[in-house]
Amino acid sequence: MADEPNDELPDDELPDDEVLAAVAEHRGRSGGDTEPKRLATSARIEHQPLLDCTVTRCIESRTTGEQTRPAPFDLSGRPVVDDLDAFRQAPPKDLRRRETVHVVLDGSVREVPCHDCSNGKQQCANCKGTGRLHCEPQVPCTDCKSVTSCTKCRGRGGSRKAPVTPVAPQKVKRPGVRVDCALCEAPGTACPRCLGWGKTLCTDCGGDGKVKCRHCQGRGRWSCETCTGKGRLTVWRGATITRAPEDEDVTAPPPRAPWIIRSRLKDKGAWRETVVGAKGRLPEDLAAHHRAAIERSLVKKRGEVTRQVSIRHLPLARVVLADEPDRVYYVYAGVTRPQVTWIPSRRWVSRVAAGAAAAMTTAVLLFVALR
Ligand SMILES: [Zn+2]
Ligand SMILES: [Zn+2]
Ligand SMILES: [Zn+2]
Ligand SMILES: [Zn+2]
Ligand SMILES: [Zn+2]
Repeated sequence: MADEPNDELPDDELPDDEVLAAVAEHRGRSGGDTEPKRLATSARIEHQPLLDCTVTRCIESRTTGEQTRPAPFDLSGRPVVDDLDAFRQAPPKDLRRRETVHVVLDGSVREVPCHDCSNGKQQCANCKGTGRLHCEPQVPCTDCKSVTSCTKCRGRGGSRKAPVTPVAPQKVKRPGVRVDCALCEAPGTACPRCLGWGKTLCTDCGGDGKVKCRHCQGRGRWSCETCTGKGRLTVWRGATITRAPEDEDVTAPPPRAPWIIRSRLKDKGAWRETVVGAKGRLPEDLAAHHRAAIERSLVKKRGEVTRQVSIRHLPLARVVLADEPDRVYYVYAGVTRPQVTWIPSRRWVSRVAAGAAAAMTTAVLLFVALR
């Protein structure tokens, strides 16, 4: 009976008599031929076939223009073409593969001096070619902060023999003990680190006022990044053509089985699987609303080179029996014959919710699951 074709049924539907026979058997009351017949008068059957469908497109994008690389640049591996815009590649063998092709316009290749440098060297922008950078020669003393440098002269001096520049910061052996001032020569009045100056010579430049530029190591020039120091560039007109796959899931339109059933049957039942190429036709046994939904998503996209449609569908019927209002049966196509699963009905869930406040959370979860 399962293999008997029935011309009057839409293609993705299980025949009602098989659905009822499966439910009757599942209920364990297979009382011969009469049981499915009795069920037929009280059963409400609704067909809700499942659909998993993904449209995979190969999308091409191209950029055309002048391209530049440090010379000499080997272009021998790239196809040479007469017209960049007219160039068309063969359709991809595997549209899931991402690939990039570079083509070169015939006669456009030449070598020119680099416009960003002279002979591969650029003046260092950091030191403007001098190799050195300004550095403060004198810095405030880190110990007295130039505030308490000498309790007598406050760093202003007074002695004619005083040296004209501060000293390098002194090693302080006994912190807090004042020393003789180098400026006013008063005994025991000065900061031990700066000897009364309030400042010390900068340790970076040693009071020089200049340091070596770190960017160019003091050379004033660096290697040009544009030509990687080669001084010349290979220039050509070319196109970069990229092909990449793009997936689009087709959402199955209603009537749709609840989420819990869809997830339960994900890997169960005799799903029918087809992959349809760009010129192929959708399978004959698709439900009309599924076919319409898939056809709606087959609009050609910008840059589309080719596409394929992967389709999985499973015949499924929802059955409600007048004499068993607490359950909803779902009958789905199996390998040899229809299989049955069930969920509690909304009516049952409502009753549980009303009857037991403690079960509220469960009921709410079930409500969500059964939607
Ligand atoms: Zn520099
Ligand atoms: Zn002093
Ligand atoms: Zn000091
Ligand atoms: Zn300095
Ligand atoms: Zn250069």
